[in-house]
Amino acid sequence: MNTERRDYFVDVILPLALPQTYTYRLPQSMNGAVFQGQRVVVQFGKSKMYSAIVKLVHETAPKYTAKYIEAILDAEPVVVEKQLEFWDWLSRYYMCTQGEVMITALPAGLRLTSESKIGMSVSFDGNKDHLNEEELNLVEAIEVRGVLTMEEVSTVLDRKTVYPVIRKLIAADVISVHEEIKERYRPKYESVIALNDKYMSEDEMRAVFDKLEKRAFKQLETLMAFIHLSGKAQEMRRADLLADRNADASALASLVKKGILDSYDREVSRIKSDAVATKEAVLSTHQTSALEKIKEGFADKSTVLLHGVTSSGKTEVYTHLIREQLENGKQVLFLLPEIALTTQLIGRLQEHFGAAVLIYHSRFNEQERVEVYNEVLKKKPCVVIGARSSLFLPYSNLGLIIIDEEHDPSFKQQDPAPRYNARESALWLAKIHKANTLLGSATPSVESYYNAKHGLYGYATMTERFGGAVLPKIFVADVKEATKRKMMKSVFTPYLLERIDQVLADGEQVILFQNRRGFAPCIECQTCGHVPHCVRCDVSLTYHKAANQLRCHICGFTSAPPTACDACGTTDLKLKGFGTEKIEEELGLLLPAARIARMDLDTTRGKFSLQNIIADFESGKTNVLVGTQMVTKGLDFGNVGLVGILSADQILNFPDFRSYERAFQLMAQVSGRAGRREKQGEVIIQSFNPQHFIIQCVVNNDYETMYHNELADRMQFSYPPLFRLIRITVKGKDALLVDNGSFHLASQLRTHMGSRILGPEYPVVARMRDEYIKNILIKTEREASVVKIKDTIQTVLNDFKVHPDFKKLRLVIDVDPN
Ligand code: ADP
Ligand code: ZN
Repeated sequence: MNTERRDYFVDVILPLALPQTYTYRLPQSMNGAVFQGQRVVVQFGKSKMYSAIVKLVHETAPKYTAKYIEAILDAEPVVVEKQLEFWDWLSRYYMCTQGEVMITALPAGLRLTSESKIGMSVSFDGNKDHLNEEELNLVEAIEVRGVLTMEEVSTVLDRKTVYPVIRKLIAADVISVHEEIKERYRPKYESVIALNDKYMSEDEMRAVFDKLEKRAFKQLETLMAFIHLSGKAQEMRRADLLADRNADASALASLVKKGILDSYDREVSRIKSDAVATKEAVLSTHQTSALEKIKEGFADKSTVLLHGVTSSGKTEVYTHLIREQLENGKQVLFLLPEIALTTQLIGRLQEHFGAAVLIYHSRFNEQERVEVYNEVLKKKPCVVIGARSSLFLPYSNLGLIIIDEEHDPSFKQQDPAPRYNARESALWLAKIHKANTLLGSATPSVESYYNAKHGLYGYATMTERFGGAVLPKIFVADVKEATKRKMMKSVFTPYLLERIDQVLADGEQVILFQNRRGFAPCIECQTCGHVPHCVRCDVSLTYHKAANQLRCHICGFTSAPPTACDACGTTDLKLKGFGTEKIEEELGLLLPAARIARMDLDTTRGKFSLQNIIADFESGKTNVLVGTQMVTKGLDFGNVGLVGILSADQILNFPDFRSYERAFQLMAQVSGRAGRREKQGEVIIQSFNPQHFIIQCVVNNDYETMYHNELADRMQFSYPPLFRLIRITVKGKDALLVDNGSFHLASQLRTHMGSRILGPEYPVVARMRDEYIKNILIKTEREASVVKIKDTIQTVLNDFKVHPDFKKLRLVIDVDPN
């Protein structure tokens, strides 16, 4: 069959929230060169260019006049078939578009951006008399440089708003706008020096030596340094050569000029580590039997839950499973919450697997991410350690997915769509690859434990800490009592403060946990009760002392702290509540000898700041670590004698159906940081309500009771895991419109699903970033057909979107909300 003259069409996924794929025509010159998974450049809309992913090549013309594909970007597909299958599932399950999945799934470096550039208009007559000085400046700059980006225009004009000037010049036909497509990924190069082929033989080389010895001694020295350092490879980095004290830059230049040495650029990896595998760990008997249990589980179930107390050595068990997979030529994905991805853990895994370890998370830049992506695309066995987005790498033969700290809420993406849960999605990815999934946690999610109990997942436990270390003693300090007796020292009960002092005196370290950053979560006027709020969100502003600022933790709005009340003008203002910053400061005043570090969002913004804080604590440079939930995740320190939880009440009182489960998990996890080696550690929980049921579960290390209690509640109020939830959020700038719209939408949904629809209701924070918010909750039985329900919802939503009254409202759909 002669394909050259046939007409082909290509369905592509565009990186936009379009409801379906879009069809383009293939120029005949490209016949036979386009395959599924390649990136192609297409025009969409008036003039915008995009890189799109080829989904299907076929011969059916669409109903509209298809535009031509502009260019093919890749010789080989960058998205593999299994990924497209996964994207498909994600978009259907989470009720979003494939374009939205594509945006999340592809590293930004693989998406092209269309960039507007300004050039001279072809029909410009050359008459500049009518231009003012500013316009003349710009036109001359364009004439000299050809084209300018908007940013460059802004620099030339020395002002931010350049559009009025540009618009006028376009109207006058002096300049015009070009759309230029730009590849964002740029390979990295380094200069290398190599011996020219002609001098490979010893005779030639000796002749060169003789000549140089007489006339150019510096060059001889440089050449000798090269031969010595480059070894057999006879090629080395220019920078390494010049770092040698016998080598000289100008002598090197002469050697290159004479053609004895060659100098050129070589593409290098940004991500390759030179780690070598060294360690072969021996498992304890507990670990061995857990490993066997896991394998038994995998014999007839694709998912197994490993329920092992903190420091039971789960990581070692994982490494055994990973090794098996790599030896069978398989790929492994090891998923972790973002901030648990520390050098500590990565170092441990590199000791086992050397350069087969690939790392993927948000601290990597665009370029590094593309390199990891391309590495996985090579189909070689590897173990990817990453945060939730590493689900989207181009795996070809996954054998195992491990999800450590599987209970962690950060596996759920909140915004933007797809609002996916990496734990649930991983199960699908595993299914596509016929791989197994291992969920690991000391405090499993109620969902996963339920599935294990009901035989959907296999189950393995480790109830003891590795090496005979014992679980910590847990005490509760009564804040109410201490307050009544006026014994509180700032935010510390006398008992906690005394123990911190003692533990530090014994040369051990302390971790203090408070799930709130900043200094104080609100400022209250003692005269009229007024509290400063964010101008865009319905929350009080948090006081940050070091920055001397009030900040909104939702939108980032900042303002100067008031000296007098905005409402009544009196000056009797009081800071209420406390965050990590305050704990750090007050402890410093009470125990001046303590070396305190703080770990929260505010102190870990830099690329290496988290690493440095951990390294300093590990080496003993600091001995108290104050932090938010960041300190609860997967850290392994050997010398922590005491963990303090400053305010259990603040964690327990969060208004959400999962709050007790979360509170248990947080407190148990942070407690788990204490006494991980020989000596028993100690935990002190401060609370106004020491007898609280959940606190007692933590004290008694009693997961089971927490679980049964939760399950009974969830049953009574129809919550997961017994029911499924879908939340629809209606947002808009006009409160009344949000009210009316959400009411209309809920009643439409009710006509199909009756009492399964709850709301609309305002959430706790009813306005964010200047938008009012109302939620509608859909609760369905676990057994109900999810596909049918989602179809019904989609139909109702589609009608709503085109309803003339509600065009200004935005809808957010969250399947299995957190
Ligand atoms: P978990 O992930 O369950 O909290 P870890 O895997 O961090 O526990 O193990 C706790 C500590 O015990 C670590 O310091 C780890 O190096 C050590 N450990 C665990 N298993 C072994 C083993 N088989 N051999 C040597 N050390 C081990
Ligand atoms: Zn705000």
